[in-house]
Amino acid sequence: MDAVPASRRVFVDSPNVRYEDDQIIADYRYSANEVTKRPNGVVHVKPVEKRLQIRTNRKVNRLGLMMVGWGGNNGSTLTAAIEAHRQGITWKTRQGLRKPNWLGSLTQASTVQIGLDTTDGSPVYVPFKDLLPTVDPKDIIIDGWDISSADLNESVRRAAVLDVGLQDQLEPYLKFCKPKPSVYKEKFIALNQMGRADNLIEASDQKVLDQIREDIRQMKSKADTVVVVWTANTECLCPVLEGVHDTADNLLAAIANGHEDVSPSALFAVASILEKVPFINGSPQNTFVPGVRELAQREKSWIAGDDFKTGQTRMKSVLVDFLVSCGIKPVAIASYNHLGNNDGKNLSSHQQFLAKKASKTNVIDDAVLSNDILYEPGEKVDHTVIIEYLPYLGDSKRAMDEYTSEIMFGGTNTIVMHNVCEDSLLAAPVILDLAILTELATRISFRSVDVKDSEFQPFTTELSILSYMFKAPIIQEGGHVVNALNKQRASILNIVRACLGLAPEHHMDLETKIP
Ligand code: NAD
Repeated sequence: MDAVPASRRVFVDSPNVRYEDDQIIADYRYSANEVTKRPNGVVHVKPVEKRLQIRTNRKVNRLGLMMVGWGGNNGSTLTAAIEAHRQGITWKTRQGLRKPNWLGSLTQASTVQIGLDTTDGSPVYVPFKDLLPTVDPKDIIIDGWDISSADLNESVRRAAVLDVGLQDQLEPYLKFCKPKPSVYKEKFIALNQMGRADNLIEASDQKVLDQIREDIRQMKSKADTVVVVWTANTECLCPVLEGVHDTADNLLAAIANGHEDVSPSALFAVASILEKVPFINGSPQNTFVPGVRELAQREKSWIAGDDFKTGQTRMKSVLVDFLVSCGIKPVAIASYNHLGNNDGKNLSSHQQFLAKKASKTNVIDDAVLSNDILYEPGEKVDHTVIIEYLPYLGDSKRAMDEYTSEIMFGGTNTIVMHNVCEDSLLAAPVILDLAILTELATRISFRSVDVKDSEFQPFTTELSILSYMFKAPIIQEGGHVVNALNKQRASILNIVRACLGLAPEHHMDLETKIP
């Protein structure tokens, strides 16, 4: 018997969902509560329901992933991992034979509880990737840019993340992967990166922009959907200048005039937007200045960011949410990091560190704002973040955190954590998920059944459905930032469930609680 393809392993038998050859159409009732805080202190809650139709295109697009900073630790590790899967490479280590896996990937290695088994009432879990059709990582076409000319074989060896037995077997495939030249502006990344900048487009900003657009067009000729991800070094925060960064037209004019304050990451964002391909910012700098955001809105192109959420911050966005939702009051958090990879070297420069510090610090804001029993309006947690560069450690990052919280009757509870891991082995699956989920998001559209003749509309410009993967998620104007990891995960899963006409996961399990 032929194996059932992943995207057909879950079948929803409901009058609310229609599987057609090329699409899945779900009728969905979106329930929300409209809340008014009355002057007398009463919180008035009015449940409302919107009737939606959600359409998911079933044909998975051929995905082209273009990474800026391709030859860095993240970019080279992800490329090697995809190639290792594609070639079915196995390798020997002291611990035995290893084979590739995608541990750490939401789309490839996590499961979703879909319901209770009719025979014995036990929960049934299915792989995330079996719910809707998604790209198989092995089919992703990879390309990218780097200011360093090292090919991907050299990059993987320079990163020293993967076992040598694997590196050696990958060499025949990776040595032909050569990053396209990019733009280096001393003003934006640390001066200590200058030594590797030997692969540059030496031209005006306008010509750089045109070249990046041409590179993207080349990828478009091979792939149906192209996603550009910034996984290059963290830039310093860019001053938002009136007449330069404030509007889309000013920004385009500033590029045409070669204004020195247009960052390389903004050039890549603008090129992607003009080519109408999603642009994702995996570093903390403020690439999305108002002009970039306006341009993205105007061109109806998607953007997402900022700063991959992978290790210490991911843990923080779980732990603080957990403490605050228990009614325990975190009051002081100290986070130390030391690491020895090139990211750490770049962040040893003060201006670039400041960008990282900001995105690492804001991650607890939503938890604090959620509980006015614990926190007075405007009250802040004492929160410090320190990053030190220790070359000997290479990609192995050490994160040490101390969380001090107030508990009952003047007690304190201090939790200390020591986290050791290869940074890029946490980041690579996150970049993979971003690419796969972005491709999926481009195939989903919504229409309101309550509005006569309404047309199907895609997600709005800021793809905040991807917030799970970012330390400082950007959201559409008027929205609110969610940092808590479990809420972010629930958002993705419940939207995917909605595409199949399924209610959000409520964990009520009334089947086992009432007669
Ligand atoms: P890395 O230093 O190994 O790689 C960055 C690459 O970008 C380098 O190869 C560098 O030559 C290249 N580069 C710099 N400026 C460029 C430009 N203008 N155009 C093209 N290439 C350019 O760093 P990494 O460990 O791969 O991390 C990449 C980024 O991801 C960093 O900004 C880091 O802060 C961010 N990040 C990483 C993690 C993680 O867990 N690894 C988590 C969150 C964010």
